[in-house]
Amino acid sequence: MSPSPLIHADFMLGGRTARRLFHDVAAALPIIDYHCHLDAAALASDRRFNDLTELWIATDPYKHRAMRILGIRESLITGAASAREKYDAWTAAVPRLVGNPLYHWTALELKRYFGIDEPLCPESADRIWEHAGERLRSAEFSARSLLARMNVACVCTSDTIADDLSPHAQLAGWGVKVVPSLRIDGLAPAKLDASRLDLFHRAGCRLADHALDVVDYDPASDDAGRFRELARFYTQRGWVLQLHLGAQRRTSSRLRGLVGPAGGYATIGSACNIPALCALLDDLEQVAALPRTILYPLNPSDYPALATLTGSFAQDGVAGKIQLGPAWWYNDHDLGIRAHLDALSRYGVLSTFIGFTTDSRSLLSMVRHEYFRRVLCDWIGAQVDAGLLPDDATLLDGLVRGICHDNAAHMLSLNKDSHS
Ligand SMILES: [Zn+2]
Repeated sequence: MSPSPLIHADFMLGGRTARRLFHDVAAALPIIDYHCHLDAAALASDRRFNDLTELWIATDPYKHRAMRILGIRESLITGAASAREKYDAWTAAVPRLVGNPLYHWTALELKRYFGIDEPLCPESADRIWEHAGERLRSAEFSARSLLARMNVACVCTSDTIADDLSPHAQLAGWGVKVVPSLRIDGLAPAKLDASRLDLFHRAGCRLADHALDVVDYDPASDDAGRFRELARFYTQRGWVLQLHLGAQRRTSSRLRGLVGPAGGYATIGSACNIPALCALLDDLEQVAALPRTILYPLNPSDYPALATLTGSFAQDGVAGKIQLGPAWWYNDHDLGIRAHLDALSRYGVLSTFIGFTTDSRSLLSMVRHEYFRRVLCDWIGAQVDAGLLPDDATLLDGLVRGICHDNAAHMLSLNKDSHS
């Protein structure tokens, strides 16, 4: 007898309240993916994919990392092996990933996009390759169709200041709003053409993202001066500042040489330098240049401190001005999401939370919104079932709607036309 499918209606939903919240409230809400790395050009050209490897494995550093941990040869991961050989290597890896979120994501992606219940493993590899390959030849599996079918309302891609924004312009008027967000490594570039900022704004950009692997802030430095000017622009234009904190991107020089700067071999860095982060935020607030800000710590030991910090730079009339961003990258799994919710609810104010974003390069990652919503509803439902929260639909449904959609929609002014 074959085992019952892992992904069923009540997957991860432990109790009556959790199920009601997910099925009646969370499931149907449109997705706002306010920070990701999807390729706008692939959406503009409505790219088609030849096989599962091209769609699902070739550009996914999460999978590459897991395969390396299993000792799989690099030639089968990013090297010269054929698409089918790389798929077979991934197929052999999956049964060995129990407990890793990739195990759940793989099952969810096969189920939601291809209707496949069978677990991916060497025995099912041929059947799934053929079935998926056939589906990929149909128009429903073009890049735009893959996104549109998941009820995605808005996607904010990640773009450097020099990037071509014409794909975004080509996508204007499509059912899914695809807008750029400005990506900057560090505090500020040495040179920045200010006219490009206006171009981003006209293209609908409302978020900037600075990767600060280590926060080291000297208000008197040139870097800080240029950063203040950028932050002033963001504040005046109503942009949101995102700070991605604490990634240790330099690990193996060998892998960096082999697969480039973002090949899935980074790790969690040291805890955040809280005094330096406070100095940075304070410096901006002092000159009225502190925009709404999302803090994404990669080190989960930072959750309590940064959830508390959301109360340190509040502003009259603005709910959730400083956000503790969702559990990110290595924390994006059931335990990480729960740790984040525990900290944010106890040290901050959960009802202002802007919810999940994928930070992903893969079109199929939109199922991770479902994964997050299931964990969220289970986390809330368990507290209701334990008598810690009232079973009050008005209170609970509003909380779930706010976190899964409304708060992010408000942050991005999606209910208004944000193009100017
Ligand atoms: Zn990112």
